Amino acid sequence: MRTKGIESAVFELEPDRKARLQGGMLDIHEENGQLAIHAAGLFEQFKALVHPGGEATRILDHRGAVLRDDQDNGEMSRPEVDRGQLRDLLIDSIPAGSIQWGHKVVAIRPLSGKPGSHEVEFTSGETITADLLIGADGAWSKVRPLVSDAIPAYTGVSFVEADLFHADDNHPAQAADDAALLGIRIPSISGVMSSIGMRAVLASS
Ligand SMILES: Cc1cc2nc3c(=O)[nH]c(=O)nc-3n(C[C@H](O)[C@H](O)[C@H](O)COP(=O)(O)OP(=O)(O)OC[C@H]3O[C@@H](n4cnc5c(N)ncnc54)[C@H](O)[C@@H]3O)c2cc1C
Repeated sequence: MRTKGIESAVFELEPDRKARLQGGMLDIHEENGQLAIHAAGLFEQFKALVHPGGEATRILDHRGAVLRDDQDNGEMSRPEVDRGQLRDLLIDSIPAGSIQWGHKVVAIRPLSGKPGSHEVEFTSGETITADLLIGADGAWSKVRPLVSDAIPAYTGVSFVEADLFHADDNHPAQAADDAALLGIRIPSISGVMSSIGMRAVLASS
């Protein structure tokens, strides 16, 4: 919106940009996420953050035998990027002060006589009005109920995420071979996913 000269602001419940780690890797597909990055004029900076070889995917059975081995052909169809670095790129691309940290939305009300316009209320009692309201507020979105009656439901699959920082130095066995990650055994866990780079490990049950 900024690149088109449309005044806008972001309201975020977290107190500041460093309030928490943002999690592991994100694959950004060319048919959707990359379109947004192109539109923001950030594709060259984005390419510098992409993990070389990150699109390569191996699927192993519980003994470490390789069942599928897809190489990264460099086509950038779904490159992997660190969530925190991508977020920093986006935050740094907009003018300082565009993000209102520590603003948790508690209520949204359509404005009568102004189709599409809404009043947004925060925990502090402060309110703002918006001609266009975009919800990117996660699973328990306060915005989604305005357009859908869908509510989040547990699907029966849980993920536990752990990061092995500086894996080459601190966890050489795991860094050397994905199969070694299968050695991380937790009762009732049915699968382990790992990402090259920060060695993020996702275990599902
Ligand atoms: C394990 C895992 C792996 C994934 N991998 C990928 C992947 O590789 N590629 C991909 O494209 N997607 C992936 N996804 C999905 C992706 O993470 C989500 O689709 C995406 O994060 C949703 O974005 P969002 O902005 O709607 O919500 P979120 O990323 O959850 O962000 C919501 C933001 O809104 C803030 N917020 C929440 N409530 C309020 C409130 N009331 N008021 C103000 N602020 C609020 C939160 O603090 C947060 O900053 C993955 C998801 C998971 C769980």
